[in-house]
Amino acid sequence: MRDIVILGSTGSIGVQALEVIAANPTKFRVVGLSAGSNNLERLVEQVKKFSVPIVGTTSDGSILREALPGVEVIDGPHSSLQIAALSCDVVLNGITGSIGLGPTLAALEVGNKVALANKESLVAGGDLVMAHGRDRIIPVDSEHSALFQAMMAGKIADVEKVILTASGGPFRDVNDLSKVSLADALNHPTWSMGPVVTINSATLVNKGLEIIEAHYLFDIPYNKIEAVIHPQSVVHSMVEFKDGSTIAQASPPNMKGPIAYAIAHPDRVAHAMPAIDWKSAHTWTFVPIDHERFPAVELAKRCGALGGAVAAMYNAANEVAVAAFMKEEIPFTAIVDTIEKTVTKLGGQAQSVVRDIKDVSAIENDARRVAQEALAKR
Ligand code: MG
Repeated sequence: MRDIVILGSTGSIGVQALEVIAANPTKFRVVGLSAGSNNLERLVEQVKKFSVPIVGTTSDGSILREALPGVEVIDGPHSSLQIAALSCDVVLNGITGSIGLGPTLAALEVGNKVALANKESLVAGGDLVMAHGRDRIIPVDSEHSALFQAMMAGKIADVEKVILTASGGPFRDVNDLSKVSLADALNHPTWSMGPVVTINSATLVNKGLEIIEAHYLFDIPYNKIEAVIHPQSVVHSMVEFKDGSTIAQASPPNMKGPIAYAIAHPDRVAHAMPAIDWKSAHTWTFVPIDHERFPAVELAKRCGALGGAVAAMYNAANEVAVAAFMKEEIPFTAIVDTIEKTVTKLGGQAQSVVRDIKDVSAIENDARRVAQEALAKR
């Protein structure tokens, strides 16, 4: 029996993780949940269904206390840090955004293993997270789960490059991106995800963040990390070894696979997701990314290569711009434009040292302010 803590339990990753756990009641036990303020009713249902002893919410906990007698309720902005530090086998961090960094560090500091779905933890604080060692972080992102699995085929020193696949998002074949709408951007062709990740997939900022994530997870330099468009989202990523051999991981797009693998590692969960059906025909295509239309990927590599602080700026500026796009205040193309303006203005601070999470917050606050100014000037 594995004791699991889930952060961000009412979000897309959290809900799917609980489905995996519900299907495997003899393997997993939920010992703590936490979520933001958006969906407390769902959180209450989850706590009841899985008989969870401790629950946290960043909002006021009085609704939970009333609805859940006998359950320990932790509330307030630091609740997810406390839930992350509960004694358990694995903490699944399914929080979206760089607010997930603190809980990741809190889990690692007490010796917990982290199934990491919060890529921003690595983008904003990669050096801080990886200082706790490589062996306690299991990636949940489908691409990184694929790389993690494919890496087992050889020595890390023999890796020539890693290739992340990208669905290309809804605008893969759209030439003029200046006129696409919010509804268009939220309509992802292959993956069902939270709204921010979906917008990030449409701009390919998500792939940029994932390149930075791969750099930290596997200690691979940026010039050895590439991305390729693969519209079917079946090959989740590939590792090329120095002898010219490429190892890929493939399965139909379904996050339950990587989630189950991360919380059960090194075991595998039987039938965590449906496998590829070889009784029907398949065509897998791979197309190079058009970096003119999608500048986010190369920009992320440049930011990442400058040092940790600039990757945090890239992400913070994107969070501001995506929020504005979701309020329909700015056009789609203004998202990456805003990131570029922000990192150009602040990139000189690349050498600024990231000693702790306070340094990360300061860098992010600067980036958010500059991004807001860039948006206000539009
Ligand atoms: Mg991904």
